[in-house]
Amino acid sequence: MTVEIIKTRQELDSTRSNLAGPIGLVPTMGNLHLGHISLLEASLKDCDNTFITIFVNPKQFGPNEDFNRYPRTLEADIELIKNKAQSFNKNIYIFAPQNPEEIYDQHSNYEIEVIPLSSVLEGHLRPGHFRGVATVVYKLFDLIKPNKAYFGLKDYQQLLVIKNMVKDLLLPIEIIPMEIIREPSGLALSSRNQYLSQEQRDQSLILSLTLNHISNIIENTFTNLDKAQVFISKCLIDKNWNYLEIRDGDTLEMVSKHTKNIVILGVYQLGTTRLLDNKKIELKKI
Ligand code: AMP
Repeated sequence: MTVEIIKTRQELDSTRSNLAGPIGLVPTMGNLHLGHISLLEASLKDCDNTFITIFVNPKQFGPNEDFNRYPRTLEADIELIKNKAQSFNKNIYIFAPQNPEEIYDQHSNYEIEVIPLSSVLEGHLRPGHFRGVATVVYKLFDLIKPNKAYFGLKDYQQLLVIKNMVKDLLLPIEIIPMEIIREPSGLALSSRNQYLSQEQRDQSLILSLTLNHISNIIENTFTNLDKAQVFISKCLIDKNWNYLEIRDGDTLEMVSKHTKNIVILGVYQLGTTRLLDNKKIELKKI
């Protein structure tokens, strides 16, 4: 059992070149919670060696977003990871570059453009966000060369962006989607939840409750979609919703007769904090 903390690309290269056997990768921005830990545990179960990366990626934040105040808790993160390495008796390599130049050369001109998922939902509201995500994940894939990489369904659109990138660029990596981990109240765990005041925490429950309610209206059939849309229109009177939409679960296009499963996606904003959540439903055609 080893836990190695790697800060530079050079150290990463030399560590990686000595490893054999299945390699798992869990990319994160740190401030680890049980959502991240569920991804780490899955990799520890599946793989001999696991890399977890902790990097607050400047390229995926817009100019008015929370890059500067994003919680950075590296020491506590390392402790959590060490405990997991011990209980699974496996090797974990923590790649936590302190200097963005370990990832981005000052003179680099090339980025991964995401078409067409970057123009809808999160992509529409956060221009450049998915380009930043895809670019950093591509680089981490290239540096670490994992066999499997673990991503949360919590960031549903991000997961599709990564899956499509792997497919289109023929990357030999299996993407493993992981279920959303929630608080008992239903609120999906997120590093950004700590921005919420107690009052906002109470208000935030509307997000998962609404998604569940819409899911109950739809009841696994196509027939009730109209009813669900009427309910959504009423919800959207509340201007805290950035969006609340029913989409095709595979493409994020509008639901059509080709749709096999659907996803309800919502972002509810409290103050400056945007809370993302979604719920997927397999449709039974009747
Ligand atoms: P982040 O550190 O927010 O970039 O997240 C790193 C990874 O953890 C991403 O694949 C997220 O989708 C995943 N993740 C974040 N929150 C949760 C959650 N509540 N349940 C499951 N996975 C999550």
